[in-house]
Amino acid sequence: MSETLTGTCLCEGVEYEVEDLQAMGYCHCTRCQHWTGSSLAGVVVAKENFNVTKGEELVKTYESHLAPRNFCSNCGSSIFDDLGDIYFVAAGLINDLDMKPSFHQQVAYKASWHEIGDDARQLDEMPG
Ligand SMILES: [Zn+2]
Ligand SMILES: [Zn+2]
Repeated sequence: MSETLTGTCLCEGVEYEVEDLQAMGYCHCTRCQHWTGSSLAGVVVAKENFNVTKGEELVKTYESHLAPRNFCSNCGSSIFDDLGDIYFVAAGLINDLDMKPSFHQQVAYKASWHEIGDDARQLDEMPG
């Protein structure tokens, strides 16, 4: 998929473009739970295929264990989780996203009240 999609934070101060979206899935780790309020629905994108086009000065980084968290400092929207060469981009900010979740990761750490309601494959930890 080489189409380019745009993403916008809640206050619309930050805008970005993403292309070559690789997969969509959920991360259930406790850090994502704290960051988003539940699981993080995200899209896997190569770092070079994510570009902030507006409001770069609003994007702040929290140096979370394993993966820095990038968010809008004005509205607090979770934007992306920085895994190095790969970004896990919060799906809820991407406009006209037309993908279905294909995995759940870190299911071992899932909140007890969160019931997975789809057939996507489940991984106890991170994908190997
Ligand atoms: Zn914002
Ligand atoms: Zn996570």
